[in-house]
Amino acid sequence: MQSDIDSAQLQRRLTAIHKRMENACRFAGRRATDVRLLLATKTVDADRIAMAAQLGECMIGENKVQELKIKDEVLAPLQLERHFIGHLQTNKVKDVLQYAGCVQTLDRIGLAEALQQRLETETRMLDVMVQVNTSNEESKFGLAPEHTPEFIRKLHIFPNLRVTGLMTIGLFDADPERVRPGFAGLRELREEILREGLLDAAEFRHLSMGMSGDLEVAIQEGATIVRVGTAIFGSRNLPDSYYWNENIES
Ligand SMILES: *Cc1c(COP(=O)(O)O)cnc(C)c1O
Repeated sequence: MQSDIDSAQLQRRLTAIHKRMENACRFAGRRATDVRLLLATKTVDADRIAMAAQLGECMIGENKVQELKIKDEVLAPLQLERHFIGHLQTNKVKDVLQYAGCVQTLDRIGLAEALQQRLETETRMLDVMVQVNTSNEESKFGLAPEHTPEFIRKLHIFPNLRVTGLMTIGLFDADPERVRPGFAGLRELREEILREGLLDAAEFRHLSMGMSGDLEVAIQEGATIVRVGTAIFGSRNLPDSYYWNENIES
């Protein structure tokens, strides 16, 4: 899978990412503590994730329920917040709830219904973020920005879902200025939702956006969580389309 990296190398890469995040915060006039790092750990084996946890990291995101399951034995005992950041099929709801404390990719009412039903059975709450397609690319999941406030209004009938923010996978482009409007759009969408009084600002506080190549732009535009994989764990054998496209089993 990814190139084998040892603990010293992992530490160097994590330090470099935190440095980039701090610099971006300073540049944007934000506090460094306002932005958290989520390790995007698809294809990364559990031992290497555990290594990152030992080095002080506390939040990961997985794209496949199956990967959460395989890594659970190693990861469950660790103090790690596990988020789900892939496309979630309704029939995987029970499994995802077993392994993840937050689903960042809520993108349809049917999924909200399935989560609510299961959460009622388990008498628990779940943190969710609504995934928005800010880049208008058909290959990406997520709601159109203009449908998002109405979608969030509908979520009020699911009392066991706590909507903590918005998530987006931005446009892929080496030019940050082409990526920026999508991120700015997510921030504006959050502001609009708050203005309409649909959610409480203290609870609905996250903007999950920005990855290895564009985390600085995301932080300038208000990201509270950046999701970084490649810049920490090295390149992946599987193309991202394997994780992001329609018609693919998760
Ligand atoms: C893989 C992935 C990331 C991280 O992307 P990198 O370019 O490897 O940093 C972020 N978000 C999601 C949803 C991902 O699937």
